[in-house]
Amino acid sequence: MHQRTIRKPVTMDGVGLHSGRPVRITMSPAPPNSGITFRVASHDEPIPAAPESVVNCHYATTIGRNGTRIQTVEHLMAAAAGLGIDNLDVEVDGPEIPAGDGSAKPFVTLLATAGRAEQSAPRRSVKIPYPIRVGSGGRWIQIVPSETLRISYTLDNDHPAIGTQALTCAPSERMFIEEFAPARTYGFLKDLGLMRKNGLARGASLENAIGVGKRGVLNGLRYRDEFVRHKILDLIGDLALLGRPVVGHVIARNAGHALNFELVLAVQRALGLERRPAGAGLAVVPLHAVRRNGALVPAPGLAAF
Ligand SMILES: [Zn+2]
Repeated sequence: MHQRTIRKPVTMDGVGLHSGRPVRITMSPAPPNSGITFRVASHDEPIPAAPESVVNCHYATTIGRNGTRIQTVEHLMAAAAGLGIDNLDVEVDGPEIPAGDGSAKPFVTLLATAGRAEQSAPRRSVKIPYPIRVGSGGRWIQIVPSETLRISYTLDNDHPAIGTQALTCAPSERMFIEEFAPARTYGFLKDLGLMRKNGLARGASLENAIGVGKRGVLNGLRYRDEFVRHKILDLIGDLALLGRPVVGHVIARNAGHALNFELVLAVQRALGLERRPAGAGLAVVPLHAVRRNGALVPAPGLAAF
């Protein structure tokens, strides 16, 4: 298999789910082996979509460098991974990727409009050699050797609209596009006030998230088990931070972005994939940030944001 980029630049306007700010992104072709790189229009320094760039992973995955931050990259990352696009330049004129409809579908549509171009460099996957596990209690992820990517996910939530949802799949491109990309993020109405006070969900609406009220879902579901499908979508997006497709069976229970990122770091360490020497600069900071805030990781449903 060869690496892929897109054929022409494409643009999308929208509002950030958390920041509530209007934002425009332009995705352009990028050279082989460059990976997915984000740029903030007013800053020169690119931010590679890599574990070393992750500065926050509660509610959303945020990457940054030297004070510049881009929030909620995971649905765009999932779309690129699902379509097998390795190299992409993403220019953003605000602090967050647009929410679209709360799923990866708008990014899939946009990337499909741009068309895909095969490149000369081979694509190298990350084959999991032995089981790797992160998390504890009722929240954990493990990845075990497998000949293809498989994902098995169990989501438990006390809310009767969610309950226990479990799904196992070996996502092909078609399956990703039809079964996972359209699954939207979700949030509980009762938490909205506190989240907004904390600078989160300020752009959230029933147009870009499944709203869960006391009596149930407020704006309908695209799939009966849309919640667990979105959790799988987030996992695909966060795993894409490794920059190479993962070959292994991921088994997850009630994870979220923080735990997804712990898995990414554990895989990176186990396979010696770090781009920076251990202990140097940013490579250490996000890890501590995850652990220090570990106790603050929200309920499984909320973690989907
Ligand atoms: Zn999400």
